[in-house]
Amino acid sequence: MPEKLAFWSIPVSLFVLLLKVFAWQLTGSVAMLSDALETVVNVVAATLAFFAVRIANKPADRRHPFGHRKAEYISAVAEGVMIIFAAFLILREAGAALSNPHLDDVPIFGLVVNAIATLINGAWATVLLRAGRRNTSPALIASARHIFTDVFTSLGVLVGLGLALVTAWLILDPLLAIVVALNILWEGWKVTRESVDGLMDVSLTDAELTAIDGLIRANMQGALQYHDLKGRRSGKAIFAEFHLVVDGTMQVDAAHDISDQIETAMVAVFPASTFLIHLEPDSELHMT
Ligand code: ZN
Ligand code: ZN
Repeated sequence: MPEKLAFWSIPVSLFVLLLKVFAWQLTGSVAMLSDALETVVNVVAATLAFFAVRIANKPADRRHPFGHRKAEYISAVAEGVMIIFAAFLILREAGAALSNPHLDDVPIFGLVVNAIATLINGAWATVLLRAGRRNTSPALIASARHIFTDVFTSLGVLVGLGLALVTAWLILDPLLAIVVALNILWEGWKVTRESVDGLMDVSLTDAELTAIDGLIRANMQGALQYHDLKGRRSGKAIFAEFHLVVDGTMQVDAAHDISDQIETAMVAVFPASTFLIHLEPDSELHMT
């Protein structure tokens, strides 16, 4: 499912790009050009995300015994960097246009073409975001967020150009492009930071840790204590570990039964995840 969606992102973004280039040709607006430039980035990013999702879904193997899910974070970082690059391209164009703002004669049709492209983009981004959240796919979520920036960009441009036409205040065009670029820069920064967090094994969220804590407590009957819980996320999968303290005289098979019970409960809530339990005798009890 994510793989198919990631694939369809490529033709969809290409089509949107064609529409936007057409809209730019019709209007000669720098803001429209910036909008189209950002979509070029979308096409490249969509292609990258497609390969990332494919690799991420491969099962674990000898060379990558923890799976391949981080491939998605790599593509998301690349996407973030490309978004930032697009922002600088736009700033350059807008800077040049500030001293000489101009719009061609009849851009109304251009605005309509851009509006159609924006509608398609918005619909597609919604589909991607839902699927990305459902499958915890960083690459799909990054793509969706990226396309949403694109949508807001276009909406801003459309409204602004409409105003520029009505008021004949042409400087609005490059000014808008600059606002657009700053917004894109911010989105690029967010996408990059979150994906780098994923690559750096940032901790599970407090909510996730609380959920795991609840599961351990509910299923550790017979054990004395647990401590040192830590966990990280790798795309869809969670990796977590902790120490479980039992009576030092407990039989190994009894202690193992408790571990199994906890693991089963946790995997039921977090499928495709790995939980590692380190058993300790009561001399390791932590005083609180
Ligand atoms: Zn491998
Ligand atoms: Zn311990």
